[in-house]
Amino acid sequence: MTQTPKLAFADDHFHDHCGVFGVFGHPEAAKLAYLGLYALQHRGQESAGIVSSDGNELHSYRAMGEVEEIFVPSVLAKLPGALAIGHTRYSTAGDKALLNAQPIMIDCNKGKLALGHNGNLTNAAEWRRRLEHRGSIFQTNSDTEVIVHLVARSQARNLSGALGDALNQVEGAYSLLVLTKDELYAVRDPRGFRPLVLGRLGEAWLVASETCAFDLLNAQYVREVEPGEMVRISKGGIESIHFAPEKPAQQCIFEHVYFSRPDSTIFGRSVNESREALGRALAKEHPVDADIVVPVPDSGVPAAVGYALESKIPFRMGLIRNHYIGRTFIEPSQAIRNFGVKLKLNPVRGLIEGQRVILVDDSIVRGTTSRKIVRMVRDVGAKEVHVRISCPPTISPCYYGVDTPTREELIASSNTPEEICKYLGADSLGYVSLSALRQAVNDTQSRFCTSCYTGVYPTDLVQLEVPSGNGVNGHALEAANGDTGNSNPLERPVTVEREG
Ligand code: SF4
Repeated sequence: MTQTPKLAFADDHFHDHCGVFGVFGHPEAAKLAYLGLYALQHRGQESAGIVSSDGNELHSYRAMGEVEEIFVPSVLAKLPGALAIGHTRYSTAGDKALLNAQPIMIDCNKGKLALGHNGNLTNAAEWRRRLEHRGSIFQTNSDTEVIVHLVARSQARNLSGALGDALNQVEGAYSLLVLTKDELYAVRDPRGFRPLVLGRLGEAWLVASETCAFDLLNAQYVREVEPGEMVRISKGGIESIHFAPEKPAQQCIFEHVYFSRPDSTIFGRSVNESREALGRALAKEHPVDADIVVPVPDSGVPAAVGYALESKIPFRMGLIRNHYIGRTFIEPSQAIRNFGVKLKLNPVRGLIEGQRVILVDDSIVRGTTSRKIVRMVRDVGAKEVHVRISCPPTISPCYYGVDTPTREELIASSNTPEEICKYLGADSLGYVSLSALRQAVNDTQSRFCTSCYTGVYPTDLVQLEVPSGNGVNGHALEAANGDTGNSNPLERPVTVEREG
């Protein structure tokens, strides 16, 4: 085995950067945006903002923290009007400044605008250098601000033209909401990396990152914003503008594996269905004689259900998650610190003791948390622990709006499954194959991005420094066309048994 990973992180999971929600034509638009953001809280917990319009002026409030803490009634009362956009944001350590919270507001030659962005621009640093050279002054270190400057510089006579101009110059992932005093724009990049959906509540139009936000409001899902489509909503109705040449679709497959809520429909397919199908595929590709199937909650639950249904091995909630550990938890003293993963998860001894356990999780990032979970399950008396992962090994970082560690930190980038199994202390380890993952999301037309499993990226343009504004974790982009010096050792499904 190559070197044992030494880094220990409290939360060894990927993070999505942002969730967006928009309202057009409802007398309490800001309140709806608040509820929509509440349903999208899993997409970003570090800051949130809402900008509303009363038809004449834009009103903005942004703060650090979770939606519920920020948007108390007295704050919502200061956000009048029938139009609003909202944003929840995740950022990495050292990059939590309020100045990067969104929506961004500007007053430029195209009027007053607010922007909320989910995704990441892969050529933002390059554009920022060029624009600063030409005299632009940036207020944030967010990649989103590049779009704002490009809009302001556009010679187009109207905003839809200026937005089209700007967006045709940037590369990467953006599901974008733009608010003016009397219009709402919803735009998705031509490859459609991140989701964006349209809905209706009575006469009002809604736009959201995920359909679960509509369910909370009893709103109707209408359709997806198409890749490369700009939807303009105004008093005159809804207009669809195709602002960019068509490109092969690259919808993020990891939205189905982990990010999106299981009660959402993403890219036209139920997330829960995909996850159960992944569990069934895991059971077919990596069967093992065992007594119980235990999910790592919460995201591992649907795949574990699928595994249990397919294998006919009983499903048991053998690990309980503490949902009340907040961002600000402080360990009370040196003497009783190092709770580690036990703060979040606790095993149910009565279910696990003496059992051969199949532990189902959605991914392994650095491996540090998975190792602690395996040890925790053994400590309460499991006879055997078999780890099953409902995606292929993650060997390469994401540059399209997901916070991932560097390639070096991803355990699967430099360790074989056998080595990972040994590091975890498991009896066996099985990852679902890429072809089974594609099948589980019904990807019959190759419309999904799988770059973090293959190291092959769909965009040409890269940057050497990434501004960390939109939650980007600052790692330099390298060869973008697959020359990663790394190949996926798991083209086929592999189960590895632990030695000794
Ligand atoms: S690299 Fe992975 S996480 Fe990023 S968009 Fe592609 S599939 Fe999603």
